[in-house]
Amino acid sequence: MMHLAFLVLLCLPVCSAYPLSGAAKQEDSNSDLAQQYLENYYNLKTDVKQFRRKESNLIVKKIQQMQKFLGLAATGKLDSDTLEVMRKPRCGVPDVGHFHTFPGIPKWRKTHLTYRIVNYTLDLPRDAVDSAIEKAVKVWEEVTPLTFSRLYEGEADIMISFAVKEHGDFYSFDGSGHSLAHAYPPGPGLYGDIHFDDDENWTEDASGTNLFLVAAHELGHSLGLFHSANTEALMYPLYNSFTELTRFRLSQDDVNGIQSLYGPPPASTEEPLVPTKSVPSGSRTPAKCDPALSFDAISTLRGEYLFFKDRYFWRRSHWNSEPEFHLISTFWPSLPSHLDAAYEVNSRDTVFIFKGNEFWAIRGNEVQAGYPRGIHTLGFPPTIRKIDAAVSDKEKKKTYFFVEDKYWRFDENSQSMEQGFPRLIADDFPGVEPKVDAVLQAFGFFYFFSGSSQFEFDPNARMVTRILKSNSWLHC
Ligand SMILES: [Zn+2]
Ligand SMILES: [Zn+2]
Repeated sequence: MMHLAFLVLLCLPVCSAYPLSGAAKQEDSNSDLAQQYLENYYNLKTDVKQFRRKESNLIVKKIQQMQKFLGLAATGKLDSDTLEVMRKPRCGVPDVGHFHTFPGIPKWRKTHLTYRIVNYTLDLPRDAVDSAIEKAVKVWEEVTPLTFSRLYEGEADIMISFAVKEHGDFYSFDGSGHSLAHAYPPGPGLYGDIHFDDDENWTEDASGTNLFLVAAHELGHSLGLFHSANTEALMYPLYNSFTELTRFRLSQDDVNGIQSLYGPPPASTEEPLVPTKSVPSGSRTPAKCDPALSFDAISTLRGEYLFFKDRYFWRRSHWNSEPEFHLISTFWPSLPSHLDAAYEVNSRDTVFIFKGNEFWAIRGNEVQAGYPRGIHTLGFPPTIRKIDAAVSDKEKKKTYFFVEDKYWRFDENSQSMEQGFPRLIADDFPGVEPKVDAVLQAFGFFYFFSGSSQFEFDPNARMVTRILKSNSWLHC
């Protein structure tokens, strides 16, 4: 479970506004602070005199509302605990309204969203800002069917910017401390956008205001989540500094909230990356040494092996015997999950990724422009809706596509499908069981993966030489 600790700011800038010049003056400034707070975050509409007279039931009610929401004793009085909380840095979005979602429950009507970082703070190097935002996006991507890609120009769904004081909307920033950022619920134009107060000192660690944490919280708003009164939640309105930022996880409250809008990740054969007490059966992260493990697709990439499964892949390099495990979206944010096939064409330094009737080209961690393309552009007949597996023979420069019990062969030199295909897999690869999930070429063999079994096929002897477990490549 995550460990939350309030960032105890013993002396916010506001403290200096409370000189020890008499109890009356102190009380006035406390009233000012409280009034401002309740106006900003609890929709209080009253004047200063009314507030200081403390006669209004409305004010007591507002204080109680705030105390309840933030987990304080609902005394209705400006006691020291309440004033202390009012001085903490927080999100600029108010606390009034529905629990979990905004009034009217706005949500995105699509699952693929774009974001754009419009400008940068001078507090951090640009790549630190980029990676904080990217990491914040992943937090939500991991527990929903939503996928995100970054735009570098034009209008994105979520426009992210840094600004100070008055910045073109109705919510001016307030200098250092207090309001740190705000974000708008889903919708067109300004909606979905995130503004960070650049009068804060944005940091990668917890020494200042941690950009990743605030960005993850604000993205929750951009996706339609409102504030939560649960102090463990990322969507709690006060800024929390986590003791171990690298091990940050959403609370179950946040997961419940966002899944009430968008549902769980697709197919749900994987477990959202959140610690839960009871994991529903059939819903988990793939385990590399599960004896029943099968793969969706396998490819080489610049001398490494990639084993794709659901939204994840294992990456095995020659230098590191222990395979790494990643989300596909960590490397290629615009790629889908649950792939059908993948293969590398070394001569083009490109890996081709297939899902349904589309395919993508990637180089390193970049998806190439102009993709996805339709698989029929490769020369498949219109009756073919998807392919099961593919492998490119590096020496012969031929790519094999496997579809049910047949296969096609594509000539990489002429960039065309060869005549005389499809042929039956059983005729040319005797001993290999259709249908094939994935194929890998290594050490002069073809490795055909079918469910949890793997057939090592010697193309010269035209026979299966060994039958292995599919996950033998992952050191199981
Ligand atoms: Zn907020
Ligand atoms: Zn703004």
